[in-house]
Amino acid sequence: MIAQEVKRISGQDVELCYQCGECVSSCQAAGIGGFNPMAMMHMVQLGMEEVVEGRVFETCLHCYLCSVRCPQGLSFPEVATALSNIWTRRHGPDRIERAFLSQIREKGFVNPVRVALAASGLPSAWMLGRGLRLAKHAFESGRVNPRLLQEVRRIVRE
Ligand code: SF4
Ligand code: SF4
Repeated sequence: MIAQEVKRISGQDVELCYQCGECVSSCQAAGIGGFNPMAMMHMVQLGMEEVVEGRVFETCLHCYLCSVRCPQGLSFPEVATALSNIWTRRHGPDRIERAFLSQIREKGFVNPVRVALAASGLPSAWMLGRGLRLAKHAFESGRVNPRLLQEVRRIVRE
């Protein structure tokens, strides 16, 4: 049962959640890609597999705003981490995690640019150079998706 597994990993007793909505109303990531901490708590309570397999919990920014406001003392980011652990135990590390682990194994530290490159599936440093040039061009010419920019500004404001 997912609720018990989450409790064992995270120490969070999700059964205590009574769906008051305080977490989702505090959450700056709510609504992005269907992300909703309150609904996910309910899905965990009901043992719905989609909550693990859909990986929507990865949208959690781990800002802990919901945790400080939850009247039941629950912490959704811990639940999200537990769900992530459950997914990884079932399926093994994904591409980003493999890139991260291989950096640690090879170098003893993480080079974020190399991880981003490996995770993106881009094949070479040439592609990285091209990507960076394109990104620079996009930012300088102002051709950044305005919806994304608005979202970033909203998060910075909040
Ligand atoms: S704030 Fe706490 S009790 Fe309320 S819905 Fe969110 S997790 Fe459940
Ligand atoms: S920790 Fe995650 S769920 Fe909680 S408010 Fe921040 S982004 Fe939302």
